[in-house]
Amino acid sequence: MKLIHETGWAEPPASTEQSLSTDIACDVVVIGGGVGGMSAALRLAGKGVDVVLLEAQTLGWGASSRNAGYITNSIAADPEMLRLLLKPERLRNLYRYAENAVHFAEDAITHHGIDCGYQQAGIVMAAVSKGQLRRARRNAKAMADAGSSAEFVEGRAAGLPDGFLGGVREGVGGTLNPGEFVLGLRAATIVAGVRVYEHTPARDVTDTGGKVTVETPGGTVRARKALLTTNAYSGGLSIAPKNLATPVWTSLVETEPVASERLDEIGWTSRAPMVTLHMIIESYRVTPQNTIVFGTRRIQTGRNPLPDRTPDRRVADDLVRGFRDRFPGLRDVKPKRAWGGWIGMSSTWLPVAGEASDNVLYSLACNGHGFAQAQYVGNLLADRACGTPLHDDLAAIWHGRKRFWPSLVSSPALYAGWLADRASDRLATLTK
Ligand SMILES: Cc1cc2nc3c(=O)[nH]c(=O)nc-3n(C[C@H](O)[C@H](O)[C@H](O)COP(=O)(O)OP(=O)(O)OC[C@H]3O[C@@H](n4cnc5c(N)ncnc54)[C@H](O)[C@@H]3O)c2cc1C
Repeated sequence: MKLIHETGWAEPPASTEQSLSTDIACDVVVIGGGVGGMSAALRLAGKGVDVVLLEAQTLGWGASSRNAGYITNSIAADPEMLRLLLKPERLRNLYRYAENAVHFAEDAITHHGIDCGYQQAGIVMAAVSKGQLRRARRNAKAMADAGSSAEFVEGRAAGLPDGFLGGVREGVGGTLNPGEFVLGLRAATIVAGVRVYEHTPARDVTDTGGKVTVETPGGTVRARKALLTTNAYSGGLSIAPKNLATPVWTSLVETEPVASERLDEIGWTSRAPMVTLHMIIESYRVTPQNTIVFGTRRIQTGRNPLPDRTPDRRVADDLVRGFRDRFPGLRDVKPKRAWGGWIGMSSTWLPVAGEASDNVLYSLACNGHGFAQAQYVGNLLADRACGTPLHDDLAAIWHGRKRFWPSLVSSPALYAGWLADRASDRLATLTK
């Protein structure tokens, strides 16, 4: 298995945009060109705003092109726990926001004509033990009560592979190739007239009342407003709220192609993309090339400046062990490559957006579930930067204060979570 730096989904862009080499002025500057920043810039350009987009690498280089490709209406935290902790109205608002985010991402595919193999597949939060199955029933109820499109399904009836007992099937969303999606969104952003500067990291952002100044190695950008869409990298900018994001490295593995008959033989007749109900999830999906992409299990924290890295060999090997345990009928299928990316975890485990200062807005921390949500929030933030009143869906994740509680996410805590998951796996085997 090859450990690679880039995403396994697509080649990098054939050519790159210029980097900033002089001082410039604009109306709004967007910092960070993932799907969040590109969606914000596209919205601003569509409104006729003079917008500059700064990206430290190339547009889409971060989590946006590296993720597992699930377009999901899930929120990272456990639905049942959310029901205990949040008022019913807050929960309903969050699920409405997440579902609208899915529709927004789907509309972007159609609107920009992006060829990225989107399949509206019905993602299943799948149980691999009786305990997880009980939790799935409770979660399905909690989500349905909060107005989310989700239902409980039995494993066989839902065409899940042997060993996956059932789960919660999301009523919206599906899977796509995120590398191809990002290339399509990048092309749309450039064509829309956004002034894009690649290989241009923002080093410092200051808000001096009427004006925001962004320092980069090659020049300064002066703007009326700035949007921070820097995800896991936000801690590198001192203007970002304290404790906004804990960077967490997440890894994926892709196998060689698997014959369709073999997937049928193991019972995966629906090819439904799945995430398990472990404390730290496992995800399994089939790609249009009939390879299987799987990931997460062991995740690791990092500190800014975040390194460009490959997955840890031990983590990738653990993912392969997990795959073979879950799919004994596919034990001989070879893992071909592994890659990973940085996600930003908020201390609340909920997506957040807000104001870092009077003229600097931020969005962040869809906590590993942000592929659709980051796009939608970017779009809503762009409207907000133009003076539009707070949209109900932005209000659902708005953080009124300028700082966050320190995060409980740490390397020892994540390792303890992984150990607890393995212990529950062993218990499930013993009590089968
Ligand atoms: C392995 C993995 C699997 C995942 N799977 C899923 C999934 O299946 N479904 C899902 O919904 N979510 C998933 N996610 C999460 C999802 O990819 C992210 O939530 C989403 O892409 C965030 O988009 P973004 O635009 O906010 O951030 P990013 O895509 O991380 O973009 C941030 C950009 O900002 C740039 N940047 C940072 N600092 C600066 C600076 N100072 N100056 C200029 N540019 C800067 C970076 O280079 C980067 O390109 C996964 C993430 C990973 C890593």
